[in-house]
Amino acid sequence: MKAITLHGVADVRVQEHADPRIQEPTDALVRITTSAICGSDLHYYHGRFPNVEPGIVLGHEFVGEVVEVGAEVRGFRPGDRVVAPFSISCGRCEACKERLPAQCQTTNRAVFGGRFGRQYPGAQASFIRVPFADFMFERVPAGMPDEQAIFLGDILATGYFCAESGGIRPGDQVAVVGCGPVGLLAIQSAQLFGPARVFAVDRVDYRLALAEAFGAVPVDASRADPVAAIRAETGGRGVPVAMECVGHASALETALGLVKAGGTVSVVGVYAEAAFPFPISQAFFGDLTFKIGICNARNYITRLLPLVQAGRLVPTRIVSHVMGLAEGPRGYRIFDRKEERAIKVLLKP
Ligand code: NAD
Ligand code: ZN
Repeated sequence: MKAITLHGVADVRVQEHADPRIQEPTDALVRITTSAICGSDLHYYHGRFPNVEPGIVLGHEFVGEVVEVGAEVRGFRPGDRVVAPFSISCGRCEACKERLPAQCQTTNRAVFGGRFGRQYPGAQASFIRVPFADFMFERVPAGMPDEQAIFLGDILATGYFCAESGGIRPGDQVAVVGCGPVGLLAIQSAQLFGPARVFAVDRVDYRLALAEAFGAVPVDASRADPVAAIRAETGGRGVPVAMECVGHASALETALGLVKAGGTVSVVGVYAEAAFPFPISQAFFGDLTFKIGICNARNYITRLLPLVQAGRLVPTRIVSHVMGLAEGPRGYRIFDRKEERAIKVLLKP
């Protein structure tokens, strides 16, 4: 089959790769109909996680059709259309029972096409092996296009998780730092909690324009200091909820600078660095709450699906490009460099 593989910094290639096979009786094989490039894939592309095996098949977002199931898979059959979370979980260990599937002890916190735990080939390919299919899969409702379902497994769940962790109450003013795919879906999710205003911070004009279309007040960090700008809009006090959707120290600093006393900073940006200079005295005297973590996306898929069906969340609006797998290297390039007004790139094998 064809697959997108990683070979070094900014070096992804479309290569022939062995077809996956059923290895465990709880596995299923999926023929991928749509996959995507995530901001998390860019961390590998930038060499930020140097431990990944060279040649690994990237990608962890997909929708597809089940083509084969292992002997112990009960709930799914060939022909079923499914979506799955980006992290691989057994559903049975202590962590999974505590509703922390991204901390699965059986897979050692593995993600598809990534560096954590055991390495599992990713989804930017024609086929993928999905372990623990009965736990991992959610059926895609008949008539729901791939584009509406795919983000449930990662970035829509993550954006929602970021808003939920922020503890937004009706009437709050909130700030979202970063208007990439995750930040844009965090803005859509934040709107469900009834904020008075959502400030959206980025440096890329066309991404800020979409944030504005989602009802946010755009703040262009390439033109003005976003902390000063948002403090000026909030009587100097800052916002009770600051959401960080970037994964860079500069954005974390902005989020910590924006939050008001008693507020919450909710971080979903990914960090590879071991430490970060934390304004601990501001946090102590300001009664701040700091929340950070990987999204337990499996917990959100079933819950967010009806919101997508009802049109309360419209994740398809972030899709800027749909291309064949063979064009994947170009997809990475434009997503990384923010060329061609790229926001979310979908790949059709
Ligand atoms: P992205 O790279 O497209 O988006 C990042 C955005 O932040 C860009 O638009 C960029 O212009 C902007 N930005 C960069 N520095 C900034 C700054 N200092 N201030 C304001 N804006 C800034 O990626 P994405 O797909 O939106 O993903 C965002 C982050 O979320 C990544 O770190 C990704 O790894 C992470 N993520 C986390 C989880 C999780 O489980 N916690 C899941 C999915 C993605
Ligand atoms: Zn992702």
